[in-house]
Amino acid sequence: MLGLMMQQPLLISSLLVHAERHHGEQEIVSRRVEGDLHRQTFRELASRSRRMAQALKTLGVADSERVGTLAWNGHRHMELYYAVSGMGAVLHTLNPRLHPEQLAWIANHAEDKVLCFDMTFHPLVEAVAAHLPQVRHFIAMTDRAHMPATSKIANLLCYEELMEGAADGFEWPQFDENHASSLCYTSGTTGNPKGALYSHRSTVLHTYAAALPDSLNLSARDVVLPVVPMFHVNAWGLPYAACMVGAKLVFPGPHLDGKSLHDLFEGEKVTLSAGVPTVWQGLLGYVHANQLRFSTMNRTVIGGSACPPAMMKAFQDGYGVHVLHAWGMTELSPLGTACVFKAGQDELPAAQRDAIQAKQGRAIFGIDMKIVGDDGQELPWDGKASGELMVRGPWVITEYLKGEGGSPLRDGWFPTGDVAMIDPQGFMQITDRSKDVIKSGGEWIGSIDLENIAMAHPAVAMAACIAAHHPKWDERPLLVVMKKPGAEVTREELIAFYEGKIAKWWTPDDVVFVDAIPLGATGKMQKNKLRDQFKDYRLPTA
Ligand code: AMP
Repeated sequence: MLGLMMQQPLLISSLLVHAERHHGEQEIVSRRVEGDLHRQTFRELASRSRRMAQALKTLGVADSERVGTLAWNGHRHMELYYAVSGMGAVLHTLNPRLHPEQLAWIANHAEDKVLCFDMTFHPLVEAVAAHLPQVRHFIAMTDRAHMPATSKIANLLCYEELMEGAADGFEWPQFDENHASSLCYTSGTTGNPKGALYSHRSTVLHTYAAALPDSLNLSARDVVLPVVPMFHVNAWGLPYAACMVGAKLVFPGPHLDGKSLHDLFEGEKVTLSAGVPTVWQGLLGYVHANQLRFSTMNRTVIGGSACPPAMMKAFQDGYGVHVLHAWGMTELSPLGTACVFKAGQDELPAAQRDAIQAKQGRAIFGIDMKIVGDDGQELPWDGKASGELMVRGPWVITEYLKGEGGSPLRDGWFPTGDVAMIDPQGFMQITDRSKDVIKSGGEWIGSIDLENIAMAHPAVAMAACIAAHHPKWDERPLLVVMKKPGAEVTREELIAFYEGKIAKWWTPDDVVFVDAIPLGATGKMQKNKLRDQFKDYRLPTA
């Protein structure tokens, strides 16, 4: 017997239709590349998205064709999120921080037919345009007044002119909810980047899950400022979730320094933000140096790499901003877990609460997870056994675009490449990326733990722990440290700092100081580069 309920495909356009009808007056505020602070309502967003869909259709964009973007977080990017996916084409968010050659490789692999870009990236697009033979139209995301006087790009189109030329009569087509909606490439630290191709269904389900109280806990009363870029896994789903719940959105554009962010947080009464730890470091430094406070922001989502407990403490104890530690990946749209207390855990002693919050959290409904040993057998959830984290769910990829790299799944589970423990309450904790694991005398040492401790030292700005070759133990931890400006600390002081905080044999054998730790295109430490840099490093053997 079948249920007697309406069949409505889960389409991204329905999020926008809802936002227009039920939250039409809600605002989207954007600090733009042009320098101004732009305001529009959800009603205007809906209208402009329809007109942009019409404009793209007139340009000849067909069903399933890929439309690339090279853009900051802003209202025009948001309009493209809805226009492109809504019309049945595929939004391909490119990461402008990638090397131009890699960028061109990705756009060609994805077969992008249109490329829309913020003016910041005009020189970059000029440099790669000749290598993008499949792109039929280049669109500068600005108005006529800000178009470049000259451009090496032939027939460069102006976004606002296209918008003006399009009528507002476009009707969102209805189609199968499994239709592809957007595309995001993995960072490609090993081999070529691979494309994760999301569907309307996976995106809408992910949006419901992201908004739940025990995930990002979003509501119509929130003012959300995604620092996480819209080119990094759909800004963790926030552009969709804001429409679903009717939350005000604030976009920082290219201005991600501490002062610009703090000014926006205060000026727009932001309640929730989200980003990787490296961004928050700049913000905290600025707020501390200028003795400022956050008067409305009450929580921030930190993920993308492990949030050092020292950063959580600074936010929570210093500024009353609750940190929501979350884990995910491009292949998961991206949300997998969020660290939210269960009943009673709020009342635990501070040290126990801190220990829970350092974990990456509990699976959000829709994501199932397990850890397995080298033999593929499931390991217990005792908070001690660690193994490879496997996940499955309706917003996890089944394969990469064009079958690149073969089938990633093992028995229907996606192997994340992360090494994790799960405690009896279901809180998962990442101890390492499997390729970053340090194997000393056959035993694993978790580099994230070692980094977190170093980051709690007042003189340390950033720390990476990598495996260095050791004649007896094969590998031993080498701590690579970037000091805070003007701060001093010695190797001996840092090694002594580990005393009593960790099993003695985990203590790093040596410390090297560097001017900068290389960061990847999404703000994560590139430990593979450090491993290359220190591949001939000789540890003290005494
Ligand atoms: P990406 O697909 O580029 O977003 O990278 C996903 C990877 O980032 C994951 O597989 C983890 O290794 C890492 N990651 C994401 N969130 C966290 C977190 N909260 N703690 C530790 N690692 C994380």
